[in-house]
Amino acid sequence: MPIYEFVCHNCHRTLSFLVRDTSAPFAPECSFCGKASLSRAMSGFAYHKSLRTVWEDSGEPTMRPGEDYYRDPRNIGRWVEKRFRDMRQEVPSQIQEQIQAAREGVLPEPLKDLESASPTTAFD
Ligand SMILES: [Zn+2]
Repeated sequence: MPIYEFVCHNCHRTLSFLVRDTSAPFAPECSFCGKASLSRAMSGFAYHKSLRTVWEDSGEPTMRPGEDYYRDPRNIGRWVEKRFRDMRQEVPSQIQEQIQAAREGVLPEPLKDLESASPTTAFD
């Protein structure tokens, strides 16, 4: 049974409903204010991001030198390292090891998932 998310037009709260019969018309009421003016929330939709988009969304100005930069494994983790430097913190050794492994071509599991999930990653 799918869970649908709705937003109440009246009180702007988000509500989740377990929908038993998706073929039947579904007209939920807000459990907070009792109004029936709800619309499906779009926030639950997942969309695939390429790694490049993730970099660009980070707003990191030094991360825009072009395609080669993203294809160079030596640049993996630069942003992470910079973020820790900015916060005046040491990069945790576990993360250092993952970055080092990634630069040598061993991707950590979450990056492998990302790679297979998107047709336009930096690793294609
Ligand atoms: Zn409401």
